[in-house]
Amino acid sequence: MAVRYASIIIDISHESVDRIFQYRIPEQLQEEVRVGSQVRVPFGSGNRSRKGYVVEITEKAAFDEARIKEVAGLAKGSVTADTRLLELAWWMKERYGSTMHQALKTVLPVKRKVKARNKQVVKSMVEDERVREEKRKESVISLNQEQQQVVDAFRGDFDRGEQTPYLIHGITGSGKTEVYMAMIDHVLASGRQVIVLIPEIALTFQTVMRFYARFGEKICVMHSRLSEGERYDQFDRARRGEASIMIGARSALFAPFDRLGLIIMDEEHEGAYRSEGAPRYHAREVAEHLARTSGGFLVMGSATPSVEAYSKAEAGIYRLFCLKRRAGAGSVPASTEIVDMRREMGEGNKSIFSRRLQELIRDRLDKGEQMMLFMNRRGYSSFVSCRSCGNAIKCPHCDVSLTLHNNRRLTCHYCGYTIPLPGTCPSCGSEYLAGFGVGTQKIEEMAARMFPGARILRMDLDTTSRKGGHEAILAAFSRGDADILIGTQMIVKGHDFPGVTLVGILAADVSLYAPDFRCVERTFQLLVQAAGRAGRGQRPGIAVIQAYIPEHYGIQAAAAQDYAAFYRQEMGYRKLMHYPPANHMLGLQVSGRDEELTSHMTDLIRDSVVRHFGSCLEVIGPVPAPVYKVNDIYRKILYMKQENYDILIRIRKYIQDRWDETEDCKKLTVQYDFS
Ligand code: ADP
Ligand code: ZN
Ligand code: ZN
Repeated sequence: MAVRYASIIIDISHESVDRIFQYRIPEQLQEEVRVGSQVRVPFGSGNRSRKGYVVEITEKAAFDEARIKEVAGLAKGSVTADTRLLELAWWMKERYGSTMHQALKTVLPVKRKVKARNKQVVKSMVEDERVREEKRKESVISLNQEQQQVVDAFRGDFDRGEQTPYLIHGITGSGKTEVYMAMIDHVLASGRQVIVLIPEIALTFQTVMRFYARFGEKICVMHSRLSEGERYDQFDRARRGEASIMIGARSALFAPFDRLGLIIMDEEHEGAYRSEGAPRYHAREVAEHLARTSGGFLVMGSATPSVEAYSKAEAGIYRLFCLKRRAGAGSVPASTEIVDMRREMGEGNKSIFSRRLQELIRDRLDKGEQMMLFMNRRGYSSFVSCRSCGNAIKCPHCDVSLTLHNNRRLTCHYCGYTIPLPGTCPSCGSEYLAGFGVGTQKIEEMAARMFPGARILRMDLDTTSRKGGHEAILAAFSRGDADILIGTQMIVKGHDFPGVTLVGILAADVSLYAPDFRCVERTFQLLVQAAGRAGRGQRPGIAVIQAYIPEHYGIQAAAAQDYAAFYRQEMGYRKLMHYPPANHMLGLQVSGRDEELTSHMTDLIRDSVVRHFGSCLEVIGPVPAPVYKVNDIYRKILYMKQENYDILIRIRKYIQDRWDETEDCKKLTVQYDFS
């Protein structure tokens, strides 16, 4: 057997990740030593015996063979949380393609000494006059029949050690959160620990407070507004067993629990669960792996499941549960209306508010009821559409819209097709081409002019950049300090305002033509979520969907709140185009300062991949990345589609192995993106 070497870190924390020491693995330990093992090694000038963790195993010596010391033996001690995290880092590195160093940095918290402010993080988020008031309310609700069925099934499966993940498809307000909390009760009672993933944007004061009211100091919270020290503290509380529920966005997955029993993933469909940096992992996949390897359970929930997750449920890989009714007494889903904005324009209304929406806004103002105006800005301004006929200018080969570059050329990011920006609409000849040019600030001005006396609050990046700005605005609206809340994506996620009886969705279809095969799915999800904000209380609500292409299936299905109809059509499109989840896709991005070299290398990779795997693979590109040049770095992308995920993983390894051997690789960066 070849000599093997173990890379070892002595002190497990993010800072020491940069200090990895290599040791030879002696013959008799070849079997036992693996990633995550705790070993004893001679360390320092005195060769004192220290405990260390194996983070990587290779057959290559990193420096002079003669100076490499040997692993002394296995350290005593059972499998710890850290062992699990190291194994997880290794798995992520292999699966998604990154260096071990990048993977370790992702899973290990930064160690920064801070004063004992441990519990303050949770407290400071929930300390508010409303907490005491809220806590006095009975925090345990008795579940309805739909909810109880899911919880009963869970208790049975959990106790038997059955590990098939759950997907709960429950309309907004159907009581998913109550179901999660009942599951958590059961898992805690068996002495196990829980991770609750909530997308950052929905991780608000309101949400955290609900968990705090129920579980008190057992929870710890991880969110991006915490300082590094505060984050470390939260992880440390989990490691010491002080807290047994970790609530947070993506990174809460890496809570150092040694008795993990349950991972809950709320709003499973959220794009934010996909990491942007290397390793580019998806939290759903990591959660699935983590649950499987730790003997735990995974429960996902959404009002609008991702096409990926739903197709797995259809295939029996997940167990599907549906919650079809609003749980709150007397609460019914909003009724929805679609307004055709082409007709508004045709009939002389050039305002961004349709006549129907204006009428409803006045009505709500008269009655003193609250409303939300939601501006859909995803994909905003990067593509061109016609305000007369509603058509976006699309690629003839790819069914995605073309992206505008320097206001002069339209380019397809999937195949490279490009044309000069036309002066008139290719479909109807109108001159009203262009992006929408309307931001939330503009809407606020127009609303103020049209409805004098209305009290308006605006929530967007400008108004929330201050620490706590986000919560302050939501709290003010919730207190009834304003009639109208205007905002982007961030107002539609997970907020519960019982006083809201009208939701206006402006430019609902603007996101249908983003250069991304998931754009219809995203639009559908946004619209359903936005409509779900209306009528959360006792009074019935209305959602008005303003669209330029109201006949599009994404808009129609959203207005009808018909997930099945959406899924059927969307899956048909994915199958036709071989997009995920019909196929798997590996996106490979090469970037570098040298434009020609970047192009050349991407071409070489394509040729090599086609030569070796061509017969079983669909290769598209290379094409420029959606944003081709960033900070003088050029980026090219190659897409590979295959039914079998494992083949794509093999291809990634094949590319990486050859890549590491080239000289040019030092001048370029390669990134992988699985979907
Ligand atoms: P979701 O997470 O699916 O949006 P929530 O769990 O937030 O739903 O529940 C929506 C509202 O209904 C909340 O105000 C919650 O307190 C209430 N609720 C949930 N379950 C019940 C129930 N069984 N009986 C009465 N009210 C409930
Ligand atoms: Zn037109
Ligand atoms: Zn194209």
